[in-house]
Amino acid sequence: MSRVGGETRNRFHPSLWESQYLAPYAMHSSQSRGRRYPEPPHPYRSPYQRDRDRIIHCAAFRRLSGKMQVFTGELGDYHRTRLTHTFEVAGIARTIGRALRLNEDLIEALALLHDIGHPPFGHAGEDALNECLEPWGGFSHNRFALTLAEELEHRYHDFPGLNLTWEVLEGQAIRAGDEAAVRSGPLLEVQAVEAADSITYNAHDTDDAIKLGLVRIEELAEVPLIRSLLETIRQRRPALPPALLRKTLVHDLIDVQVTDLIERGAAELERWRFPDAQAARKSPFRLGPSPSLAAQKAELERFLSERVYRHPQLLAVRAKAQKRLRALFQFFVRHPQLMPERFVARIEQVGLQRAVGDYLAGMTDRYCDEQCRRYGCGEG
Ligand code: MG
Repeated sequence: MSRVGGETRNRFHPSLWESQYLAPYAMHSSQSRGRRYPEPPHPYRSPYQRDRDRIIHCAAFRRLSGKMQVFTGELGDYHRTRLTHTFEVAGIARTIGRALRLNEDLIEALALLHDIGHPPFGHAGEDALNECLEPWGGFSHNRFALTLAEELEHRYHDFPGLNLTWEVLEGQAIRAGDEAAVRSGPLLEVQAVEAADSITYNAHDTDDAIKLGLVRIEELAEVPLIRSLLETIRQRRPALPPALLRKTLVHDLIDVQVTDLIERGAAELERWRFPDAQAARKSPFRLGPSPSLAAQKAELERFLSERVYRHPQLLAVRAKAQKRLRALFQFFVRHPQLMPERFVARIEQVGLQRAVGDYLAGMTDRYCDEQCRRYGCGEG
């Protein structure tokens, strides 16, 4: 290894690499607004790579494995959890990012953070907590992700939270509907993650719903997008067994959406020629599906929402989970001293109800159930 100016030539230089491979409209880490608590740069990891690592190593991220996406654990072990959903989003978002020469490291950090604030029992749990906390400002999983990242995670001696970069926190603040962040407009990397999230759940909820027997493939063929994909698959492979047909359908469903997004995105970015990331976020251009695919996606989403998300089997499980969560909330409001010490200490800072809400929101589905059994909440 030869040495240049005290550095080895073989060592990776994040900002040099970015200046060579990223498009001008990508968010270059050299332009980052930095961290709330300044830290010296890392010799071989970019600031966004460090953010990714901080997120992966935090407790709230690991707990995603015990949190439901749409389907609860009682339904088997095939379907997605919040963690596998998150990895699927990160993978698809990175594919989009690399194809459009965006900052893949920033994309990965944003994707891994995006659902970290989910309470137990998915959106059903979120609705229950939101109701419990209504007089105190409600509950939003997107906002709670910021509370976790900035306050509740404790990994460093010098500061609370993970001290993530401005761009990662701002991207999450846009998801949470923060007015100032929304006004600034989302970076293209934030847009890529948003688009990947929707592509991902459309595809995996279709897969899980068929596999769990909530809908049949023939019923899904009512949706024009699914029907046309099935026709193409059957022309290509007329005699696929049902399980392989389902898997091929899900593969093609992802592929058609990602390809559409990248092709439209590349053509539009070529036309706009944004000189930098700020110009792109301030423009009316948004990464997303072409108008014809957007219409087809909307029909699939309508089908999923009517026939899968509101399936009687799921509604029953959700109603029970919400009852348990509400009962547990009331229980800890009456007995806050039974919470872990740091949540008891938090009461002074954020108030009793919010501290209880924060404690409950961090629980996995299983831990929440265990606590309910222990304290006799939500039964009968
Ligand atoms: Mg998501």
